[in-house]
Amino acid sequence: MESLLIKNGDIVTAIDQLNADIYIENGLIQAIGKDLDFSADRQIDAQGHYVFPGAIDAHVHLELPVMDTVSADDFETGTAAGIAGGTTSIIDFVTPNRGQSLLGALHERKDAARKAVSDYAFHMAVIGFDPHTAQEMEQCVINEGIPSFKTFLAYKETIGIEDQALIEVMKTAKKLGALVTSHCENGDLIPELQKQLIDVGKTDPQYHAQSRPSFIEEEGTHKAITFARTVGVPLYIVHVTCREAVETIIKARAAGQTVFGETCPQYLLLDDSVYDKPGFQSAAYVMSPPIRPKGHQKSLWEALKAGQIQTVATDHCPFQLHGQKDMGKDDFRNIPNGAAGIENRLALMYTYGVLEQKLTLKQFVEVNSTRPAQLFGMYPQKGTICAGADADLVIWNPDTENTISAKTCHHRCDTSIFEGFQTKGAPTWVIVNGKVQWDEGNLNVERGAGRYIHRNPGSSL
Ligand SMILES: [Zn+2]
Repeated sequence: MESLLIKNGDIVTAIDQLNADIYIENGLIQAIGKDLDFSADRQIDAQGHYVFPGAIDAHVHLELPVMDTVSADDFETGTAAGIAGGTTSIIDFVTPNRGQSLLGALHERKDAARKAVSDYAFHMAVIGFDPHTAQEMEQCVINEGIPSFKTFLAYKETIGIEDQALIEVMKTAKKLGALVTSHCENGDLIPELQKQLIDVGKTDPQYHAQSRPSFIEEEGTHKAITFARTVGVPLYIVHVTCREAVETIIKARAAGQTVFGETCPQYLLLDDSVYDKPGFQSAAYVMSPPIRPKGHQKSLWEALKAGQIQTVATDHCPFQLHGQKDMGKDDFRNIPNGAAGIENRLALMYTYGVLEQKLTLKQFVEVNSTRPAQLFGMYPQKGTICAGADADLVIWNPDTENTISAKTCHHRCDTSIFEGFQTKGAPTWVIVNGKVQWDEGNLNVERGAGRYIHRNPGSSL
């Protein structure tokens, strides 16, 4: 296997920054130090570049079947787009159908994921609790390396979980040392608001946002936290979007509860004026929770900086505006929810976080890589730069300027919710398991080269 020597990079982890060389062999980091003298198959001069641990996107939906269609990126194109932007591992989801076994659903997702070009893992969604669920959850943790379980308070009619089942999932996760994650929007109130809007002919995409106001996320966040408090189990809240949810999380943490939060670039950088776009264009921004009014973004940035929200993921789940999203042109409830972001996360967080002093460089590494690795049981194999770790590295040119456009992104989507955003800073090289897979603008990925990541429970909560 190819050996690689990276010279003179400015290595940045969540806790350190130093200028040194990195020697890589057999897909692993073998040595880090000044003036390393190894003869390698290839040498990269990283002078003037940062070297970050490969970013981990802990929330993506590739090849996700939704409403008689499937999210536009498959495991190959989605992970390839990730690599082009500096993301070297993903965590997707297994979501069983009602009545389907967890392990049966996992088997199907693993089959689909075999074509991934970077390493991948799954969170297991638990949508109900039957006599087999506890044992299957245990098998997920022990045999399958899945120590995180997703619950949906929204989507009651399909994958949403009932209260009693949520209690049982939390109790079982507690016994297993696993992390429960929750999508926190009240699943009974949303259909009520949707109906109120549809009944008066408000069917356009913009009404999607009105059907899911921030107070409904606040209620969901409070509910999940209260359940976790009652059971005494750690909780991770996915895609936090609003001030009220942030305040609810901070209050619980201040009272000593173990609660973590994740947010996404779209909630940090966009406001609900996106829903004013003419015609059906605003359907590109139909996602759940929706983009919030001006003001909420500031709360999210402050919580991220203060460590009250720990991770940034993308919820990458693209659908083509023409041919998929337009299934809902007469009724916003039929618009598949989601947007693309996996390729843009690092450049956006660097430009609008680090360069605008909303995050330090180390915090940038922490929220995009280190904390996701720790919380989801992949650390220190991933999430940092140390001898023995997987050689997943991003060699970052802080001066590269780009303008985001759907036309130049590698993911499959005819629109970008970040169209026209200027970014500064981009990867020059991305190393995945010791191989240079993004090489000065060229994507050299190999279908199926990604490996399934067997994760460990609870080690770094
Ligand atoms: Zn999601």
